[in-house]
Amino acid sequence: MDEQTALLIGICEECFEEAPLFNAILYGRSLQMCDKCSKLSGALVLTRPKPEQVYNSIKHSTKDSMRRVSGISPKAKEEEERRQKEVTMEEMRERARKLKEKKEKEKNELEEARKKEEEILKKKQNEVLDEKEFLDYLEKQMEDIKKQEEEMKYREEAENNKNK
Ligand SMILES: [Zn+2]
Repeated sequence: MDEQTALLIGICEECFEEAPLFNAILYGRSLQMCDKCSKLSGALVLTRPKPEQVYNSIKHSTKDSMRRVSGISPKAKEEEERRQKEVTMEEMRERARKLKEKKEKEKNELEEARKKEEEILKKKQNEVLDEKEFLDYLEKQMEDIKKQEEEMKYREEAENNKNK
């Protein structure tokens, strides 16, 4: 199989990993996704390649890096193409890094908002509890006062009866 059938390696827009990408549609949005993400998210894949195509594209990138490691320089045109591809990859990696950061930041902000909300709810609950405790306390005080009043009344009456 030639390299023409190989898939384009890029950054998956879902997991930000470097992988062979497929065109897929998720929630009405067109995305470039890796095989795993397209399957996990249940996205509608427009170009579902055969397994050997996935394998070949991975093999292709491995071949590329092996060539780089071994120091065998490709032809000038190839070199230029490779360089351009690398620049694009570098840009994509940078974009992916920023997206990842943004996602992380959004996640953190959400978590913080959730914590704040939790604290407010907890506080409110405590306030309600405090209020109830206070009401109970007032009720008890009122009862005590009533008892004292009744006792005084009783004593007064007893005193009056004695004096009669
Ligand atoms: Zn992915």
